[in-house]
Amino acid sequence: MKNKWTIIPASLLLLTGCAQEQNKATEPEQSNEQSTGQTETATNANESGQSESGTTESSNQEEPLSAEEQKHAALIEALPEDASSTDWNLILVNRENPLPEGYETNLVEVEPQKEIDERIVEPFQNWVAAAKEAGYQLYFASGYRSVERQQNNYDRSVNNYMKEGYSEAEAIEKTEEYIAVPRSSEHHTGLAVDIVDQEWIASGKGLIPEYDTQPSQHWLEETMADYGFILRYPEGTSDLTGINYESWHFRYVGKENAQYIVEQGLVLEQYIELLKERETSTQE
Ligand SMILES: [Zn+2]
Repeated sequence: MKNKWTIIPASLLLLTGCAQEQNKATEPEQSNEQSTGQTETATNANESGQSESGTTESSNQEEPLSAEEQKHAALIEALPEDASSTDWNLILVNRENPLPEGYETNLVEVEPQKEIDERIVEPFQNWVAAAKEAGYQLYFASGYRSVERQQNNYDRSVNNYMKEGYSEAEAIEKTEEYIAVPRSSEHHTGLAVDIVDQEWIASGKGLIPEYDTQPSQHWLEETMADYGFILRYPEGTSDLTGINYESWHFRYVGKENAQYIVEQGLVLEQYIELLKERETSTQE
C-alpha cells in the first residue's frame, strides 16, 4: 500500500488539493458526497492503472519510445549480464582499432606452424573434433599471424596487383578488400582462425566467399556459437566491419557473447557498441 502512494506523487497532490478546497468551503452534504465520489473514482483509477495508463497520461516529460528505440533498449536489456567491452575475448582489432602496442599473447602450436591463443585451444579443438565426428575434415588455413608476416602478405599482394597492371593506388585498394592493413588484422590476436575443408583446398580453391556453397561451411556456421566462435565478416556487413564477406574467417569471442551475437544477427563492432552503451549508462 505504502508503495502505491509513493509511486504516484503527482496524482496524489492533485487529489489532496481538491479535497482541501472542498473542506474549506464546507459545502452542503450533497456536494460533499459528490467530492467523495470524485475522490473514489480518482483513487480507483490510480489503483487500477497507476503505472501504465496513470503515469503515461500524467507525465509530459518523456516522449514514448519509437519502435526503433524500443528495439534498441530491448537489445541492451538482453545483453549477457557479465560481458564487458574490455574482456580479453572481445578485443576489437580493425582499421580504426589497430593492435595495441605491446599486446601480448601466449601462443600454442595446434598444428605445424599454426598457432592460436592458448585460451582458445580447448574450444577450437573441441569444435574441430565435432566436425570430424560430423564427417567433415577441416583444413586449418591460418591462425595467429605476426605484424611482420601481415606486412609481407600485404606488400606481396600490392606487388602482384601492380604486376598485373594496376596502379599502386588500385593495387592497394584491391589488396585491402581482403588483406588487412598490418596491425589491423584480427589474426594478430591469436583469436581468429581461417577454416575451410580438405576437399575444398585439394580442389585448388582457396579462401574465397564461395566456400559457403560447401556443407562443411554450413555446419561451421550452425555450430560456431556453441564453441564460442562467430563468423566475423558476414555477407553484406562490410560497411560495418570494413572487410568484405569472408565465409572462412571465424573469431573466438566466448560462448555467451557468440550466442547473443548470432541470435541478434550483429557484428562484433555493433556488439561492443551496445556493451559500451550499457557501461556508460550504468556509470551515470
Ligand atoms: Zn582470416
